Amino acid sequence: MYRTGTGRAATEVPVWWAEHAWLGGATAAAGVVLEVKGDRLAAVIPGVSKASSQATVLPGLTLPGLANGHSHAFHRALRGRAQDRSGTFWSWRELMYSLADRLDPDAYHRLARATYTEMVLAGYTAVGEFHYLHHGPGGHPYADPNAMGGALVAAAAEAGLRLTLLDTCYLEAAPGAGPDGVQMRFSDGSAGTWAERVSRMAPDANTVIGAAVHSVRAVPPAAAAEVAAWARAGHRPLHAHVSEQPQENDECVAAYGATPLEVLAGAGAVDGAFTAVHGTHLSRSDVALLGRSGGGCCLCPTTERDLGDGIGPVAEMAAAGVTLSLGSDSHAVVDPFEEARALEMDARLAARSRGVMTPPQLLGAATQGGMAALGWDAGRLEAGRLADFVTIRTASVRTAGADPASPAAAVFAAGAADVDTVVVGGRTVVQAGVHRNGGDAGAELAAVIGELWR
Ligand SMILES: [Zn+2]
Repeated sequence: MYRTGTGRAATEVPVWWAEHAWLGGATAAAGVVLEVKGDRLAAVIPGVSKASSQATVLPGLTLPGLANGHSHAFHRALRGRAQDRSGTFWSWRELMYSLADRLDPDAYHRLARATYTEMVLAGYTAVGEFHYLHHGPGGHPYADPNAMGGALVAAAAEAGLRLTLLDTCYLEAAPGAGPDGVQMRFSDGSAGTWAERVSRMAPDANTVIGAAVHSVRAVPPAAAAEVAAWARAGHRPLHAHVSEQPQENDECVAAYGATPLEVLAGAGAVDGAFTAVHGTHLSRSDVALLGRSGGGCCLCPTTERDLGDGIGPVAEMAAAGVTLSLGSDSHAVVDPFEEARALEMDARLAARSRGVMTPPQLLGAATQGGMAALGWDAGRLEAGRLADFVTIRTASVRTAGADPASPAAAVFAAGAADVDTVVVGGRTVVQAGVHRNGGDAGAELAAVIGELWR
C-alpha cells in the first residue's frame, strides 16, 4: 500500500512520514518524519503522531537503504543452472568461466541492468561490483578499454541504485603462473597498466570508482602493493577476496610463507578503507590483525552456503571490532533480509548456540557497515546523510504478527518480497513494490540469460 498527501504528486513531496523507522537502536521509533533536501536527509524527527498533509506516508517499517557489499552481476545467469551440480567452488568456477567467455559489453549491460533492478526491488540502494571481466576475447582490449566497466556504470544508473565499481586487478592463474583461457580477459598484464586504465574512469553522483585485488592467488604481493598505493592516494575503497577457500590459504602459505591477509597487510593494503571479502577461513591472528587495522569483512552467506565454502568466524570478528558487511556475491539469492538472517543462522550452527549477533548488529551490517565499505555516506537515518531508505510491509503474510517496532521483524520475518518503497538520494525508485521504470526485469533476465546459454 502506498499513500500520498493530498494536492501534490509523490515525486514532488520532499517529506515522508514513516509509521515506524529504525534509527539504529534496539527498537524502531514510531511516527518519524524524514525531510529531504537535494539528495540528503535534512531532518529526521521521531515521535510525530500524525502525518502532515504534505507528507508521503510510509506504512510499515522503514530502514536505511541496504548495501550489497559484494556482487559479480554476471553470476546472476548461473542461478538455477549451477546449484544442482556436485563438486566444490573449483568445479563451479569452470561453469562460471564458460559464462564469462560469452559476455560482450552489450550483454553485460543488459544482464547487469536487470540484475541491479532485482536488487533495488529487494531493497538494496547501493552495490559494490567486484569487476574483473575487463577485456575482449583473448584479452584484447576493446576500443574503449573501459567498455565493460562503463556498461556496469550505465546499468546501475538505469536501475536507480548507487554503484561502487571495485575495478579489479587480476594478473595470474596462481602464484608464478600467467593467466589461462578466459582469465586473459581479466588481466591488464601488470598493476601499472591496470592503474592506467582505471584512472581513466571518472566518479559521478551515482558512482564511486574503487579498487580491488582479486586475491593473493591472482595478484602477486608487489602488484597488490601498487593497487593499494593507487587506492590510498585517491582515498578509494579497496576490497579483496580473502581466505574463501582452505586451498587458497594452503597455496598462499606455500608460496609466501604467510596467510593471504598477512600478504595483503605486507603489501600495505590492510587499513580502514580495506574490506576482506568472505574471510571464511581467517586464522585467529588474521581476525586480530583485521580488527587492529580498522578494516572490514564482507560476508556472503547465501553464496558461501551454495558453494559449500564454510562459515566465517562472525562472533570473533565482531568481538575484534571488524566492521561487518554483507553481499549477495553470486546472486544465488538476492535478498538482503535473507543475507542478514543467514549470518546469524549460520553462526548458530557453528556455535551450536543462539543469539550470536543481535538484530541491530545484523541490520547494521546490512546497512551502515556495507555503505562504509563502499564509500557512501549512507546507512543511517540521520540528518546530513544521503537520503536512502527502504520501507517493508509489516502486514504481509510473512511479516504479520511480528512486532513492527522491532528490528527482529526485518531480520527474522521479512524477505525481499516485502519491500514496498525504495528511495535513493531522495528519489522514489520503487513504489508499491513496482520499479519506476515500469519494465519487466524478469523478462529481461530471461531474454539475456537465454541468449547467453544458447
Ligand atoms: Zn566474489
